[in-house]
This record gives sequence, C-alpha cells and structure tokens, in this order.
Amino acid sequence: MSQSSYDIMSMHSTMQRTPLQTLAPEVAERIAAGEVIERPASVIKELVENALDAGAHDIRVEVRGSGMHLMRVTDDGCGILEQEMEAIARRHTTSKLTSVEDLDHLRTLGFRGEALASIAAISELTLLSRAIETEALDEEQPALWLTWRGGEIVQRGRKARPHGTTATVRDLFYNVPVRLKFTHATRTENSHITQLLQRYAAGYPGVRFNLVIDEHIALQTSGSGDLATTLAELYHLPLNELLHPVHVAREQVCRIDGYIGNRVLAQNSRQYVMLFVNGRWVQVRALQDALEAGYRPLLPRGKHPLLVLHLHVMPENLDVNVHPAKTEVRLLNESEVTAALTQAVREVLEQSPASPQEVQFPGPVLASQRRLPGPRRRGLHVSESAEGYKAEEAQPGTSEIIRQLRPLAQLQQAVILAEAPDGSLYLVDQHRAHERVIYEHFRRTYTGLRADDVPVTAHLLLEPVIVEMKRYQAELLEQRLPMLRGLGIECERFGGRSFLIRSVPTDEDGEGSEQLAAHLQELAESAAEDSPDWEDHLLINLSCRSALRRGRDLSMGEMTTLLKALANVTAPAVCPHGSPVLLHYSRSFLIERFGW
Ligand code: ADP
Ligand code: MG
Repeated sequence: MSQSSYDIMSMHSTMQRTPLQTLAPEVAERIAAGEVIERPASVIKELVENALDAGAHDIRVEVRGSGMHLMRVTDDGCGILEQEMEAIARRHTTSKLTSVEDLDHLRTLGFRGEALASIAAISELTLLSRAIETEALDEEQPALWLTWRGGEIVQRGRKARPHGTTATVRDLFYNVPVRLKFTHATRTENSHITQLLQRYAAGYPGVRFNLVIDEHIALQTSGSGDLATTLAELYHLPLNELLHPVHVAREQVCRIDGYIGNRVLAQNSRQYVMLFVNGRWVQVRALQDALEAGYRPLLPRGKHPLLVLHLHVMPENLDVNVHPAKTEVRLLNESEVTAALTQAVREVLEQSPASPQEVQFPGPVLASQRRLPGPRRRGLHVSESAEGYKAEEAQPGTSEIIRQLRPLAQLQQAVILAEAPDGSLYLVDQHRAHERVIYEHFRRTYTGLRADDVPVTAHLLLEPVIVEMKRYQAELLEQRLPMLRGLGIECERFGGRSFLIRSVPTDEDGEGSEQLAAHLQELAESAAEDSPDWEDHLLINLSCRSALRRGRDLSMGEMTTLLKALANVTAPAVCPHGSPVLLHYSRSFLIERFGW
C-alpha cells in the first residue's frame, strides 16, 4: 500500500473537479441525515471543511457578535463554477459524491450536500466565488456573488477577487426563534469557535489559518506544513523540545503520524487530545479509549497529554456516514487500529523525561488575543522553531542518551546528577530508576520471555517467614502458589490461614534482597489480591520493595552501573507506578534561564 493511497491531504493538490449534481433520492436516503447547524460554531465547521475540500492553502475566518452578527470564511481554493452557483444551496447538491458506491471511498470531508442548504435556510448567506478555470480563461471578469435569505436568492452582483470563495453568514437563526433563544453566551461560543479552528490548524499544518474575533486576532498559523511549528504558533509555547514525533506503519491496517507532548504538557482536560482519521477530526469512543489506555498508566491521575495524531486508513475501511456532524466514524479493523494507537502512545510516554519547565496553556478564550493588525508573539521559541528547529531532527532516543550519561555526583543520597553528551543535565531518581530495572526483570522472568533463558533463581531467606491471611485471601493465595514459585517465591500453607515463605526472587544479577523479608506480609497480601491485575500489582510491589532506597550512598561505579541498567529497559522515563524517573534540564532551558 503506497503512502499516498492513504493520504487524504495529498488529494487536494491533485484534485479533479467533478460537476455539481443533485443526489438521486436513493443516494440521499443512504446518508445519515440530520440537522447539521446547531450553533454558530457548526456553521464555521461546515464552511472551513468546504474550504479544505476545495484545496485551500489559506483560510481566513472572521466572527462578529459570537457569530450571530456575522461569520465569514475566505479561502483560496478552487472556487465554484458560475453556472453552478444558483444550485449550490439546494439540498443534496454536491460535487463530492455521485453514487452509493462513492460512500465507500470518500476522500473529502463533505459529501452530503446539505450544509450550504441548511445555512441558507436559516440565515442570510452570501457566496462570492471565482473558479480557478474562469480566472484562467478571463482575468478581467469579476467574480459572481449571490445572496440567499431563508433559502431564496434575494440579490446578486459582481465583484473582483482572485480565485477562491468567500462565504458570509449574517443573522443566523433569524427565522428559528427556538435556536435564537438557546444561543450560548458570547464567551462560550467564541471559545468553541477558537477550539474548532485550533483543531483544524493542528489537523492541516500545511494550511495557513487566521481567526479574527471582533477585530482581535484569536489565532494565526503560518501553514509551514510542520506540525510542531503549528502547535507552537497555536499555543504560544516553547513546544519544540517537548514534542515527541510518532510514526507507526501497520501493513494493510493503518499509518499513524503526529506528535505526543512531553509529560510536562499534560493537562486536566482532554481538549488537547486530538485525533484525525483521514484528515477528519473525530470523537470515537473506542479510539479515545485506546489512546487513554496508552497514557493512563504513565501520567498522573486525571492528566491528559497534548497529542495530535493522524490516523490514515484506506477509505474503503472507513465508514464516515454514521453521524450528521461526521465526528463519529466506524473502522473495519478496529481492534488492530486501537492496539496500534495504544502502543504508539505508550511507547512515546515511556521514554519521555520530566522537565523543570512550567507550561501553562492559554485558557479556552486565548488570553493573548490581540488587536488587529500587529501580531505580537509570546513565547521565546516560536520564531526559532518556525526556522526549522524541528522536534524530529537529531534527537537520539532517551535510552541512547542514558547510555551516554556521565554521572557527576549524588544529591541527598537520592538523586544522581548526570551530564548528557549535549551538555544538558539529567537528574535521576535512584530508587525509581532501580525500581524500573527490577520491575522489567521480574516481568520478563515471570512471563518467561527472558531472551537468555536463564532459569529462575530464588534467594533462600536466612529465616523463613510466616504470614497470616484472611480467609478469602488464603484461598486465593493457595491457588496461586505455583505461579509464585515461577517468580522465585517459595511459599507453602502452614495450616489454617498461615503461610510459610522460604524464598524471594533474585534481581537481574541473581542477587537476593534480604530487604524483602521485612515486607513479606504486604507482598503476600498483594499476591492474594482479589483483582484481575493482581500479578502486575505484585510485580510492582516486589520491585518497589527490593529497589535501592533513597538515603543510600552510591559510589561512582554504582551510579554508572545503575544508569547502564536503566538504558536497557523499555520504559526508562517512568517508574512502574507511573511517576517520573528522569528530570531533564535542557541546554536551551539553561541558556534561557541564565540569559546567556
Ligand atoms: P458538501 O460539502 O457535502 O458537498 P455543501 O452544502 O457544504 O455540501 O457544499 C455544496 C457544494 O458546494 C460542494 O460540493 C462544493 O461543490 C461547493 N462548495 C461549497 N463551498 C465551497 C468552497 N469554499 N469552494 C469551492 N466549492 C465549494
Ligand atoms: Mg460541505
């Protein structure tokens, strides 16, 4: 499967115009119908999607009076042919779909031919448009405009403009009193519109977006084509060092591209978790759950990452005709896709060190709204990143960096200070680092996936230890004794609810930890936990209790050994409980804070 066969965005540049037609009733019936215009933001969504479908590279949105006075979307797309203008706002009139079969391989955002008809019916809609073909034929000919009110054409005229379309909507809901009454407060609607545009800008980094709300620039992107740059422009944050690129290809299933923000960017809301399927921003429960399954164990409770992922699937494996707003889709091979998403997110966050940078996202209505025209940028790195300091280039993986760390000293008998080859500083929590190393060792041993096939060795305790269980615990523990033996824990029933523990697992060097003996009651309880996750909980508990404690002096040699071991694990940046192991003071952080 070639890359381009997946890629909806590449389609716009090679677009062939198909003539406008009114869908036959049997086609129209197959389309999930519904009222698409619920609020001003839905108008913007439809107009912006039309502009994207028209192959626009520059999309300007203007909003006045929270959209109730005026909404205007101007694009530089292919424009509308003059002879098609009059029919364009009739229901089920579209240039994107001709037959029922077309629904199986859609490459456009729109396809039901309903939006302009719905908008024209409940507002005053003016379309000024010049087709790219007309422009080529006669450069002098001014463009045509038509105004609809309540669905009827009420005015027409001509005006000069280059190819593209300007759609202006005034007096929204003027003839729908019920909607008018429910229209939301200005702030809410403006923030909906801003969030919507943020999503499209993130979804289409190659398109330049500009949003002006009541004569203030609310959002502006350069259309650089680089997602990291776009995100920096959107949030006015020095994001370039904090974004981890994602590229996953699953043959015949899907491709996933995008960025996942460093753990310091995690927020309390899901607002910054953005998933696009073939260029369409979607909210699909199963896919959101898959993303969450990837990051939940690796971030503090209640936190959600900044994440922009593009999922590309073959159009025939995707059904977008599920919901009128088209934010729900159905995937043919959903389970494979969800597994790929979970793994993509997990793999990034497992490697993502914490950072001392404080990152505050602007609120839903941007605090940085500026008056026209002079845009002023907050955030030091925005322009720098626009010049190509791209997050993707020249970044060795976290494991590679750890392998090359040079320990400098130990702080508070708890933290290893180490210098990376690029002169940045890493702080390594010695307990959590060791905990991660031991946890992965136990997990490999336990699941029998140990590459070198070393038999499990157990460390015989100097004195066997007796533990007392509750009745239900005793039953569960009894059943699990063979599994515990597989981990190096020799345990037997000692009559009644007592158990005798003779040995504990050894660490990756085959050394036993007498330290564990003091925690056997707690460990036995976790081995008897009435939960499907008991095995993992036990492994976490075991690693926590055998790991180096804080308050232990480490020699230079011991620090080096620990760092080498950490470089070999799959998730060096987080301990098994999900807390950070590494804190990174980047070079640019030092430069910025010292004002070098
Ligand atoms: P749909 O997008 O589902 O086709 P719409 O009612 O949104 O339905 O638009 C109807 C048709 O109008 C589109 O199929 C397209 O041919 C044309 N159109 C609308 N907006 C634009 C635009 N900005 N540029 C070019 N053509 C447009
Ligand atoms: Mg449309």
